[in-house]
Amino acid sequence: MTWFALTPHDTPATGIDCRDCEAVCCRLTVVLMPDDHVPPRYVARDDSGLEVMARGEDGWCKALDRNTLRCTIYEQRPSICRDFTMGGPYCRDERAAWHRRSAAGIPIALC
Ligand code: SF4
Ligand code: SF4
Repeated sequence: MTWFALTPHDTPATGIDCRDCEAVCCRLTVVLMPDDHVPPRYVARDDSGLEVMARGEDGWCKALDRNTLRCTIYEQRPSICRDFTMGGPYCRDERAAWHRRSAAGIPIALC
C-alpha cells in the first residue's frame, strides 16, 4: 500500500502520492488469502478466526517500517495490498477519513 507497491501504470493523475501520505491504508484490516505467504510473525487472527495482518498498538500493520513508512515485506505483501490503488476510491476515502480524524483531534491509536 505504500508507493513502491505500485507500478507506473497504476498511478492515476489525482495528485495523490504515497510519499506524502502517512500510510493510512496500512491501518486497515488486511485479510490474508490462501495464496498469500507472509512471514508468520506478521499473521494474526481476527474475532471471526480469519487470518489477517497483525497490527501494532499504534494501529499500523506490523510489517510497516515506522521510520520510513514503507512495507518491509514488499515482495511478500498480501494480494489485498497489491491490489490497493494509489489515488483510487478506497485510497481517497481512507485519506479523507484520516484527515477528518486528525482535524478532530482523535488519538491515532484509537482511529
Ligand atoms: S492511502 Fe493511498 S496514498 Fe496513502 S499510502 Fe495508501 S495507497 Fe498510498
Ligand atoms: S503488508 Fe505492507 S503494504 Fe500491506 S498493510 Fe502491511 S505494511 Fe502495508
